[in-house]
Amino acid sequence: QQTDITEMLEDVADRFSFQIRQKRIDISTRVRRDVSTAWLDRDQIDQVLGNLVSNALKYTPEGGTIELEALKNEDGMLSISVRDSGIGIPKKDIERIFERFYRVDKARSRNMGGTGLGLSIAREIVKAHGGSISLQSELNEGSKVTFTLPLNEQRGSEA
Ligand code: ATP
Ligand code: MG
Repeated sequence: QQTDITEMLEDVADRFSFQIRQKRIDISTRVRRDVSTAWLDRDQIDQVLGNLVSNALKYTPEGGTIELEALKNEDGMLSISVRDSGIGIPKKDIERIFERFYRVDKARSRNMGGTGLGLSIAREIVKAHGGSISLQSELNEGSKVTFTLPLNEQRGSEA
């Protein structure tokens, strides 16, 4: 559907408002001026955003920050990122992080719950929509996951 990007990002923050308050996380959303609406599969993209924000919350200690940002990138794609100030991911694990069931190490994720599927599902959905997803992370500093989608601002004229 035709989707207001600001509203979509604020909605995902609202969905997690309980945990956000509980962990005293400072969450912000920023949508650049050249982005307003996009024609996208809202249910599926909500699932991607949900998986990413859920990770950001899970792997960020109390009092941390999460930033959601949308912009139009140099290729004219819609780019959405979720950045956190959390525990980060060791360099050696970054390339495998989108594999099914891959989790960084049992010790640190033992008490976190989860199956290691969130990122692989996110990647499948993004790819199916013609985009890509990538992760940057610095151990003990935080992580940033960015995905792109074609920015279909106007829908074709078919009824
Ligand atoms: P699930 O999403 O199925 O509940 P999960 O969160 O463990 O389980 P993924 O979302 O696929 O699985 O993430 C895979 C692994 O990547 C996680 O177990 C965690 O080790 C690491 N990871 C993912 N996101 C972050 C993040 N924002 N900060 C630090 N580590 C992360
Ligand atoms: Mg997850």
